[in-house]
Amino acid sequence: MVEIECLVCGRTIEIPQFIDTDNYDGQVACQECGSLLHVKLEGSKVRKYKIVEKKFRIPTADEMFQIHKEAERRLREEGYVVDKQEEGKD
Ligand SMILES: [Zn+2]
Repeated sequence: MVEIECLVCGRTIEIPQFIDTDNYDGQVACQECGSLLHVKLEGSKVRKYKIVEKKFRIPTADEMFQIHKEAERRLREEGYVVDKQEEGKD
């Protein structure tokens, strides 16, 4: 069983069984982050591999907004954020 480490997320990628690890020169996808790597295998050894396409999942602007709103709401519920009401400090 040949395993390689994803160059993007660092997770171990298991080479699918349909790939002939004795002689393969092509792409594999990381099951974790979905990035595409180009690998060259010879005699069940990795000869070279490199990133073809990075797919680090980055939240979209909308998702970022939702995450922020959600975080703020939770903090509010827990009393960390109190609506500003200045209590006359010097
Ligand atoms: Zn990955």
